[in-house]
Amino acid sequence: MVGGRNAKPYLCAMLSALKNSNRPFMIAGPCSAESAEQVMEVARSLDTSRVDLLRAGIWKPRTRPDSFEGMGEKALPWLVEAGGEVGLPVTTEVASAAHVEACLKAGVDILWVGARSTVNPFSVQNIADALRGVDIPVLVKNPINPDLQLWIGAVERLEKAGIRQMGVIHRGFSHLGKSNYRNLPMWEIPIAMKTEFPDLPMYCDPSHINGNRDGLLPIAQKAIDLGMDGLMLETHPRPDEALSDAKQQITPATLSEILDALVWRRMDNIDPILANKLAELRASIDTIDDEIIRLLVARFDVTEEIGEYKKQNNLTILQLDRWKKVVEAYEKQWVRKGLSANFVKKYLEILHKESIRRQTQVMNQRGTSDSNEVIW
Ligand code: PEP
Ligand code: MN
Repeated sequence: MVGGRNAKPYLCAMLSALKNSNRPFMIAGPCSAESAEQVMEVARSLDTSRVDLLRAGIWKPRTRPDSFEGMGEKALPWLVEAGGEVGLPVTTEVASAAHVEACLKAGVDILWVGARSTVNPFSVQNIADALRGVDIPVLVKNPINPDLQLWIGAVERLEKAGIRQMGVIHRGFSHLGKSNYRNLPMWEIPIAMKTEFPDLPMYCDPSHINGNRDGLLPIAQKAIDLGMDGLMLETHPRPDEALSDAKQQITPATLSEILDALVWRRMDNIDPILANKLAELRASIDTIDDEIIRLLVARFDVTEEIGEYKKQNNLTILQLDRWKKVVEAYEKQWVRKGLSANFVKKYLEILHKESIRRQTQVMNQRGTSDSNEVIW
């Protein structure tokens, strides 16, 4: 446990100011700073009444060599000047102590740690050490692999180095094989992160999750509906000509359309009438949950009785025919009743697994001394 996990120091003053606002905190700007003109052009075309922070990559962590690896340190003033021109604070990715030093010297307002650095505790520690004694907000992207502890570890390393203003960015997770996503969202991981650090501002980066400029809105909306505080969307004046991540960047005009379509929902319902209605509905759910649990317990009692019967008659726990029939019948029936096929499949699997675990326990009972060591 990290001390003060829920304490206010985690809140970045500027980021948290918008936590209860009536719109998402918006980070926009190109994947990479390509030229002074390009950064200035994108900054000028952003709607600054709805964008809060200008982003641009200066050093780009590319998967393969011989790709465009960013313009490097000389691009820092382009970003800082473009932000100054339109009155937006600026942010970029740092992956080493040298990057940190250059950013601090150039006057970058907020730093972010990229997914390929979060994954490596040595890199995070180098960045954290370079930041010791510096009061600058830092955003931490999730690691490229779905490892919650690495993400938490990066936040802890920065916290130990004295960073008090932090936020995290959910940008999805690498995967093998085909998917519609460039990086799988695996929403359960940001939810677990949010549960661990409820006061830490969390932003979603639909651009890197989707990898494509079509389909960003549903991801952005889902993030908001899960209580995230804002979004990072890669924005380029001419996305097709972008030197990195061309497929996923959008124009400032498209960004405005997405923001128009986005419905801003909050976790805390402040209207007392709505809050009462919600409380009533939740009370009904609680009653139904009690009933479901009562029935599940009754069901497992019968499962164990069946286990006794199988034991006495030397029948195997797994009865393949019965299991197949159950799955077939229930899948159809329950989907017809309105449950999703995916839910039915998962529910039956977990039910079957628990039934087998319980019957295994029954089988292994010797006299009065239980051997409860059975692991499914
Ligand atoms: C980026 O934001 O351009 C970037 C490289 O992101 P990530 O670290 O999420 O891949
Ligand atoms: Mn990018």
